[in-house]
Amino acid sequence: MIKVAIAGFRGKMGSSATNMVLEDARFQLVALLSYKKDITNLNQLSQYQGENVPVFSSKEELVETVKPDIWIDFTSPDIIFDTLSFLIEHDIHPVVGTTGLSKEELSDLQKRASDKQLGGLIAPNFSVGAILMMRFAKEAANYFPDVEIIELHHDQKLDAPSGTALRTAEEIATVRESKKQGHPDEVELLPGARGADVDGIKIHSVRLPGLIAHQQVQFGAKGEGLILRHDSYDRSSFMAGVALGCVKVMNEQELIYGLEYLL
Ligand code: NAP
Repeated sequence: MIKVAIAGFRGKMGSSATNMVLEDARFQLVALLSYKKDITNLNQLSQYQGENVPVFSSKEELVETVKPDIWIDFTSPDIIFDTLSFLIEHDIHPVVGTTGLSKEELSDLQKRASDKQLGGLIAPNFSVGAILMMRFAKEAANYFPDVEIIELHHDQKLDAPSGTALRTAEEIATVRESKKQGHPDEVELLPGARGADVDGIKIHSVRLPGLIAHQQVQFGAKGEGLILRHDSYDRSSFMAGVALGCVKVMNEQELIYGLEYLL
């Protein structure tokens, strides 16, 4: 069985991942990590889940006590670079959904993982439907170079734009020539009105209660339009991808960015 630790297990994604690991016979849940100090409360939560799983409030203590094979992480952009550096140093395979790493941080981590031949996965989106949406968007951009992205998430999300929207724009940018969209003389009467800009592709971020994770990639051309839309209605939509990542990274030798490379 693959020994799994989960960081951020009290969060929305982390709790879904905890249930997935407990229910999947390929995995053994060996540790949970929360940076909150109210450990009494955490122990109650751990028992509530029906398993005798130790809960730690420090990653160093967790790894010294229970060395997991895999570290599932759904925490915060603030700490994910440090966590990944630590996991690479300790030869633990990361399976990370936490978004917010910069390009420079990502390539630094990828180099260090490759030097150690350590397999890992960082996936801005673990849903198979979202991966297909990105793939189809890239294909459509060959024919429809004018495109804007509207991503919609729950109002507790910390980073904007979403990792999925950034990834979609970066993928589209590989197949179309860089261009400024809209009127060359357009003026924003309010800053931000035209959204964020990735290589001329505008990204608009919506944050509302009730939403989970949704994205629309909207193409326009003379006399026609094309809209690709993906909706995650429930966080369980991400868990098949997380499980697949946990199994596959055990046999990889690099830190892969994007679930599509493991499908
Ligand atoms: P959430 O419900 O707020 O949970 C995040 C958990 O991380 C919290 O419960 C907290 O754990 C921990 N945490 C938060 N800030 C922290 C900090 N500064 N230091 C240490 N731990 C901290 O968030 P979520 O919706 O589950 O999302 C978590 C991450 O996953 C976000 O980056 C989000 O963008 C990303 N995400 C990825 C996907 C994907 O498919 N890749 C899908 C959805 C979301 P404790 O309460 O135990 O301290």
